Amino acid sequence: MVDFEHRNGALHCEDVPLAAIAEAVGTPVYVYSTAAMLQNLREFRDALAEVTDPLIAYAVKANPNAAVLRVLADAGAGADIVSGGEYRRARDAGVPPDKIVFAGVGKAEAEMALALAGGLYQFNVESLAEAEMLSALACALGKTAPVGFRINPDVGAGGHAKITTGAAASKFGIAIGEALDGYARAAALPGLAVHGVAVHIGSQLTSLEPLERAFTRLGELIGALRSAGHDIRVADLGGGLGVPYDPGHPPPPSAQDYGAMVRRVTSGWNTRLVFEPGRLIVASAGLLLSRVIRLKPGAADPFVIVDAAMNDLMRPALYDAWHKIDAVRPGGERWTANVVGPVCETGDTFATAREMDRVEAGDLIVFRTAGAYAATMASTYNSRPLTPEVLVDGDRWTLVRPRIDVDALVAAGCADGGND
Ligand SMILES: *Cc1c(COP(=O)(O)O)cnc(C)c1O
Repeated sequence: MVDFEHRNGALHCEDVPLAAIAEAVGTPVYVYSTAAMLQNLREFRDALAEVTDPLIAYAVKANPNAAVLRVLADAGAGADIVSGGEYRRARDAGVPPDKIVFAGVGKAEAEMALALAGGLYQFNVESLAEAEMLSALACALGKTAPVGFRINPDVGAGGHAKITTGAAASKFGIAIGEALDGYARAAALPGLAVHGVAVHIGSQLTSLEPLERAFTRLGELIGALRSAGHDIRVADLGGGLGVPYDPGHPPPPSAQDYGAMVRRVTSGWNTRLVFEPGRLIVASAGLLLSRVIRLKPGAADPFVIVDAAMNDLMRPALYDAWHKIDAVRPGGERWTANVVGPVCETGDTFATAREMDRVEAGDLIVFRTAGAYAATMASTYNSRPLTPEVLVDGDRWTLVRPRIDVDALVAAGCADGGND
C-alpha cells in the first residue's frame, strides 16, 4: 500500500512520518490514510461501473469515526447502519437519508422511530415479528416504511465462525424457504412498502463462490416473489469481500473480480443493486501505531511487550486474526518473537513465533491493516485509556478521536473495577 511506505528508512502515512504522530499524540494510536480509503472506494465503484445506479452504502460499523464517515460521505458513499447510534453518526456526517439502509436482527422500537422520522432508503427486516413492530410504528407515526427482507440463503461462508452470517443456523435473516410466506404476510401489513430483498452472508470472504451461490439463490427468489405478485425493485447484496492481511496467503478476489461476478449473476434482475462494503473500504487504510515497552526472554522466543493491547485491537483475541507487524524504523535485522500487550490475559497476544523486524525497547512498531473492526471495538479493559485516532491527509494530520484518559474514565465512573 503506497499510502504507508518507508521513506529514508522511516515509515510514513502519506507524507507524515509516523514518529511525528507518536511524538505528538503518544502511543498506542490508530492512524488512517484519507487517500487510501478514497482509493478503495474508487476501486469498488469502478468495479461496478457497468451496474446502473448502484447504491454503495458503506458499513458504518467497520469504522464509525466521524471524520472517516465525513470523508466517505463527501465522496458520495451511503451508509449501512445497524443501530440508532449509527443512524445519527451517518446523518451527522452528511449522508442523505435516501442513501441509508438499516440492518440488524434486534432493531428496537426507538431506533426504528428515529430512522422513520429522519428518513431512509430501506429497512432490511430480519423477521416477521420485526415487520409487525415496524408496521405498527409506521402507522402510529403516519409514515410508510420502505422494507426489504434479509434472506438467510443457507450458504456457509466467512473467514471465521464468528463472522459467518448466512448459514441456516445463524441468527440472521429469514430462512429462504420461508420467504414467500413472509413476504405474503408482510405485504398485508399496513404502513410497509415491501419492495426489497437483501443478503449478507459473512465477512472477510476470500472466495467469490459462496457469494455467487447466495446471489444466485436470491435471483431465483426474486423470480418467485414476482410470480407471487410482489413488486421487487431493490436487491441488497451486502458486504463481506475480504482484504489481504497476510502477504503469505493468496490474495482475496479483487473488487474487479467481484464486480464481474455481480454483473454476470444479476443480469436480467431488473432491480436497483445495493452494496454494503465495510472492511474493503477502510481496513487497508489504517494501522495501529505502538511502542515497545520492553523485551523479556521467553521459553522459546523472546516476548516483545508493546503498549498496545487487546483492549486497543481486539481482532487477534476475538477472531484469531493475523496482523502484519513492522518496525517504523527497521534496522535491517529480523528475528522470531512473540508480540504481546500488557493486559492480564493470555489472550492478549498479537503474534506467536512471528518472523519480524528485530526491535528494542522504545522502538515504534505498527500493526497493519487495522482500519476496520479495530478502533471501534476498543475498550478500557484493565483501566486503560481509550485509544485515540488520527486522520492523515497529504502532509497534514488531525486528531479525530482524542485519547480518553484515565482521569476522564474515572470521572465518568466507567473505569472497570469497584462496581460490585
Ligand atoms: C458488517 C456488515 C456489513 C459489512 O461487512 P464487511 O465484511 O465489512 O464488508 C455489511 N452488511 C451487513 C448487514 C453487516 O452486518
